[in-house]
Amino acid sequence: MSHYSDYYDTASFRPEHLAMLDTLAQLGPGFAERAVAVDQTASFPTQNYTELAEHGFLRLMVPKEFGGMEFSLGEYATIGAEIGKYCGATALTFNMHTSSMMWLRFMFEMPNLTTEERNAFAQMRARQFPKVVEEGAIFSQPISEGGVNWTSEPIKTNCRRVDGGWVINGFKKFASLAGHCDYYSIVCTEHFDGIPPRHEDTMDFAVHKDSPGLSIIGEWDPLGMRGTVSRDLVLKDVFVSEDDLMMPAGVFGKTLSQWPSMMATLTPAYMGVAQSAYDFTVSYLRGALPGMPPVDRRVYPTKRAAVARMYQRLTEMRSLWTQAFFEAKPFPSKAEVMRLYAAQYAVMEGVQEIAALAIRTCGGQSMLKTLPLERIYRDSRCGALMLPYTTEIMEDYLSMMTVYDMEEIDAAPTDTVSARVSMWRPE
Ligand SMILES: Cc1cc2nc3c(=O)[nH]c(=O)nc-3n(C[C@H](O)[C@H](O)[C@H](O)COP(=O)(O)OP(=O)(O)OC[C@H]3O[C@@H](n4cnc5c(N)ncnc54)[C@H](O)[C@@H]3O)c2cc1C
Repeated sequence: MSHYSDYYDTASFRPEHLAMLDTLAQLGPGFAERAVAVDQTASFPTQNYTELAEHGFLRLMVPKEFGGMEFSLGEYATIGAEIGKYCGATALTFNMHTSSMMWLRFMFEMPNLTTEERNAFAQMRARQFPKVVEEGAIFSQPISEGGVNWTSEPIKTNCRRVDGGWVINGFKKFASLAGHCDYYSIVCTEHFDGIPPRHEDTMDFAVHKDSPGLSIIGEWDPLGMRGTVSRDLVLKDVFVSEDDLMMPAGVFGKTLSQWPSMMATLTPAYMGVAQSAYDFTVSYLRGALPGMPPVDRRVYPTKRAAVARMYQRLTEMRSLWTQAFFEAKPFPSKAEVMRLYAAQYAVMEGVQEIAALAIRTCGGQSMLKTLPLERIYRDSRCGALMLPYTTEIMEDYLSMMTVYDMEEIDAAPTDTVSARVSMWRPE
C-alpha cells in the first residue's frame, strides 16, 4: 500500500495533521483486514470505530474551545481518503459523523446569521459537542428519503410543535450507521397549519438512538459499501425538545448555496477507494500481493500502459479535488464552485473508471472474492449516485453554469430539448 507522502505535497501540512495521517498509517492495515468480513456480512466496522475514537478522530472537526482538533475541511478530506484507502465503508460512515460536526462548526461561523440565531446556535453547540468530546458519541446523518431530490423540495419528514417540544414523523432511506450510532441528525421540515412546507422551516435535531417511536427497518444487502449498514428509519411521533436542536430553523438549507463544499464530503471515501484500486494493481503486477504466487506481470507493455493511465487519472482527479477542498470557504466565487463541482464529478466518475481498469488490467484472478479488488470495484460504483451531488446533478449544474450567467439561470428554458422535434412518433 502506498504511503500518503507518495501523493501529497506534505511540506505545507501542519504537524497535527501529519500526526493523524501517521496514526492512520498504523491503524489502516487492521481496517483493511477487517474490511473482508465487514463486506461479506454487510456488518458495521465497530472495531474500526473503537480505534478511531481512541485516537481522537471523532473530535477531528470539533472546535478547540470544545476540546476538539479543529481541522480544516482540506485536512479532513485527506484523513477521510486515507481511511477510505483501507476500508471504504468506514470512511463513508465516518463522513456522516464528521459532517454533522462540521455543520455545527462552520454554519455557526457564517457572517449572515442574525444575533438571535447566533445566540441560539451557541447554546445548541454547547449541548451537542460535549456528547462527542466527553461521551464519545457517534452521529449519523440520514437526510435522504428515497424518490425525492431533497435539495430542491422541502424535506418530507416533518415536525410539529407540542407541549415542551416537537414530535417528528417521517421516513429516512439509506440511514448509514443505522443501529450503530448514538444520535441520528434528523433533518425535517416544521409544519404549520395552513402554510405549505417551506425550506426556511427546515430543522435539524439530534435524535437519540433509544428515542421512543424511532425504528430501523428493511433489509441491507447492497452491491457495495456494505459495511455502512444504511437501513431505513421510521420516525413515528418521536418527541424532541429545544435541547435536541442542532441548528436554528432554516440554517441547514443554506449549506448547499452558501457553503457548498461541506456537501462534497462524500468524495474523500471514494478518493481513498480509487487509491486502493491503483495500489492493488501495482502490487499485483509486481507479484507482491500477499498470498499470491510472486508472478512478475510488469513485463507486459499493455499492462504497463494501463497502469500509467490509471496513475494519470488518479493524479488528475486528486489535483483538482485537493485544490477544491483546500480553497473551500463560505460564499465561494463562481469559479471556485465550478471547480468544486468538477472535482466531485471527477472523483465519483473517476473512481469507478479506475476500479474497472484495475480489473481489466489485473485479469481473471483479480475478480476472485479472495482478493480485495472485486470489493473495491463494487464500492466504487456507489459514489456517483449519492445525493446531493450525484454526477447527473453535477453535470446538470455545470451544464448551466458554463453557458449561462448566474442571473440568467432561473429563467433559462431548460425544458426545451430541440432534438425531440425529430424523435420517432407512432402513426
Ligand atoms: C452506501 C450508501 C450510503 C448512503 N448513506 C446515506 C446517509 O447516510 N445519509 C443520507 O442522507 N443518504 C445516504 N445515502 C443515499 C444517497 O445519498 C442518495 O440519496 C441515494 O442514493 C439516492 O437514491 P435514488 O437513486 O433512489 O435517488 P432518488 O431518491 O430516486 O432521487 C434523486 C434522483 O434524482 C436525480 N436528480 C435530481 N435532480 C436532478 C437533476 N437536476 N438532473 C439529473 N438528475 C437529477 C438524482 O441524480 C437521483 O438519481 C446513501 C447511499 C448509499 C448507496
